[in-house]
Amino acid sequence: MEKRTVLIIGATGSIGTQSLDVLKKLDGFKLIGFTYHSNFDLAMKIKSEFPNAKMLSTKKDLERFEDFMDELKPEITIAAAPGFAGFELAYKAIPYTKRLALANKEALVCGGKFLKKRIRDYRVELIPVDSEHSAIFQLIEKGIEKIAITASGGALRDWPIENLKYAKPSDVLKHPVWSMGKKITVDSATMFNKALEVMEAMELFEIPFEKIDVYVHREGMIHGMVFLKDGTVKVHASVADMRIPIAFSLTYPDRLYEFPEFPEFSSLTFKKLSKERYPIFFLSEYVKDSHSLRTAFNAADEIAVKAFLNGKIGFMDIPKVVEKVIENINISEAKSVEDLKTTDKEARRLACEITRSC
Ligand code: NDP
Ligand code: MG
Repeated sequence: MEKRTVLIIGATGSIGTQSLDVLKKLDGFKLIGFTYHSNFDLAMKIKSEFPNAKMLSTKKDLERFEDFMDELKPEITIAAAPGFAGFELAYKAIPYTKRLALANKEALVCGGKFLKKRIRDYRVELIPVDSEHSAIFQLIEKGIEKIAITASGGALRDWPIENLKYAKPSDVLKHPVWSMGKKITVDSATMFNKALEVMEAMELFEIPFEKIDVYVHREGMIHGMVFLKDGTVKVHASVADMRIPIAFSLTYPDRLYEFPEFPEFSSLTFKKLSKERYPIFFLSEYVKDSHSLRTAFNAADEIAVKAFLNGKIGFMDIPKVVEKVIENINISEAKSVEDLKTTDKEARRLACEITRSC
């Protein structure tokens, strides 16, 4: 049988390398191409393990990206580059692929309506990779009243609130449950990641904001729940390992990946989010209905997190920077991806000014 062809955008990252790991274990799939940004050494190592795959640096040869996609026309594209840049690449890839396995959550948060239109126009399948969304995707059926996604609480979940302002990057980068890239690990500690994920779920499942609950679930075993109108709640559980949802996005509707472990259930806890501990999460209420505001929200966080990681601002300044940017930015609703790019730039400029970090 012909193998299914796969291309990874952002192969040198956390999702990218775990996708490679899955591909090594799955029969019937073949890596034909990948992009990296700046990690040339790792890209060369990947090339030596997958000698038939073509590679492209999005830092050096960004303008060649669409030709690269056109030349390879992968059946499945894993979109695993981060941020607004990752959205643009996922968006550009759509005409050249049949399935978009989407890890980059910013694509739906910033560009949801544009991305979904393009997906429909080119009849591409959109399969979520983000673990909570993969969970909901596997549970979804007619008659949904509401859904819930879970959060680990991040690295500082047990810190007294008054100490959070002293947290250093090294404290924040120790994630208790998942192993991920730096940006998303900081976003887990502030709960910005969950703000993005609620909007990602709104777009993916066309469910209103008010019908998406978030629980802090320390054990990291339950990832999503759907509440059905007859009183039933369906729950998705697995070990917290991104290779499981990555594999499912490749093999769906089949389950071909073998994973050796199940969660060991003992006590399971679920708590509502505290506004004092996670103020940034609650800003999502203000931006949720506008793609432009969501884009500004995201851009401001990208700059604020960078400033925090570089020691320019404190941990609890991250939400303050984001709030200032979304309050002060002057925007109208985007009519195109170009409009979003303008908003993204302007929000970055404002955030740079506020943090004096770039
Ligand atoms: P990483 O930072 O680990 O990796 C990012 C990858 O994208 C690397 O290959 C990097 O290349 C490349 N990259 C970095 N900047 C750019 C850019 N400007 N343009 C193009 N490519 C770039 O991130 P993660 O793998 O953690 O996350 C990737 C995406 O997946 C994010 O959107 C994240 O929110 C989402 N996600 C991640 C999860 C996780 O568990 N990690 C879970 C759910 C979603 P290089 O290293 O060569 O410079
Ligand atoms: Mg997630």
